[in-house]
Amino acid sequence: MASLHNSFVSFTDWEFNYNKFGSTLSRQLIYLDEIIVYQHDIKFNRHFLLSLMGYHLPPENSLAYRFTFAQLLDTTAEEVAHCLVREFYPDAEEHGTEFKEVKTSILGYLEQENIVKIIKHELEKNGIDM
Ligand SMILES: [Zn+2]
Repeated sequence: MASLHNSFVSFTDWEFNYNKFGSTLSRQLIYLDEIIVYQHDIKFNRHFLLSLMGYHLPPENSLAYRFTFAQLLDTTAEEVAHCLVREFYPDAEEHGTEFKEVKTSILGYLEQENIVKIIKHELEKNGIDM
């Protein structure tokens, strides 16, 4: 019988996208007919990178103000939750109950992390929208 081994979740790229904050690609790899390994790749919208570096889109651009640090945390929780739900609840709905519970707990975890508090403080100090 096949056995499940540790999965890999990687942040792989900043992508240009006009309608998504992030995306994931999940693969189930099977070695020697018995070892199952999940590999998840997460991409974030490149506008996050530009916004957090302090570049601002013109206010009339509908994407302006949407790529905040708070939205990046939410997107991180969203994409990691998609990976975990695909792996541990393969029959669950994409944005169903299991997904919402996992996302909420990941977001709660991220928000109490010291590094997140430090980044929020630095952004505030430098007048960058959060
Ligand atoms: Zn989603």
